[in-house]
Amino acid sequence: MGIVTPDQLEKMVRVARKYKIETLKITTGQHLKMLGADQEDIPMIMEELGGSLPGTPHLKIGLRNLQACVGSPFCSFATADTREMGMLLQKAFVNRVFPGKVKVAVSGCISNCCEGYVRDLGIFAKKSGWTLIFGGNAAGRPRIGDVIADKLSAEQVILLAEKCLGYYCDNAKKEERAGHMVARIGLDDLLQAIK
Ligand code: SF4
Repeated sequence: MGIVTPDQLEKMVRVARKYKIETLKITTGQHLKMLGADQEDIPMIMEELGGSLPGTPHLKIGLRNLQACVGSPFCSFATADTREMGMLLQKAFVNRVFPGKVKVAVSGCISNCCEGYVRDLGIFAKKSGWTLIFGGNAAGRPRIGDVIADKLSAEQVILLAEKCLGYYCDNAKKEERAGHMVARIGLDDLLQAIK
């Protein structure tokens, strides 16, 4: 979600200097990438940063991108805590294996700064509760996602996301994105299955 503490940032800078990495990139997916590391240094870099190399890189494990806007209490337009929602989603889906990439965006108001309509799973807040969008995609074959439900509590968002992503796991072809699956099968089938 692009959240980093000063201590974590200082640690990354120390490690980057130690391994002569000259460029850090804040990506569109709210990751912080170290560019240009020597291949043989990567395990040590990961260890020093407290991470680990993915053991099964061919599998689509967890949420590929989990973006969240600053939300409440830091944005005056926000009607919800996007970080808290992001953490709930992370906890629910971190170790799940999906047929393809799953990109998620959480926005704290209808301005939708994280562009949830063009993410596999988009969630944004209104005063009346959360709205959940499924099947959006901003890549080579763009698709606007479908609003699945609104006025949801945080718990209902997780339950509904679980159903939508479960349907995705059961019905998508290998590497097929959620939106392309919905376009192929039809929204009615999805809505019927997650009722
Ligand atoms: S989506 Fe709304 S709450 Fe989030 S940063 Fe944009 S304006 Fe602020």
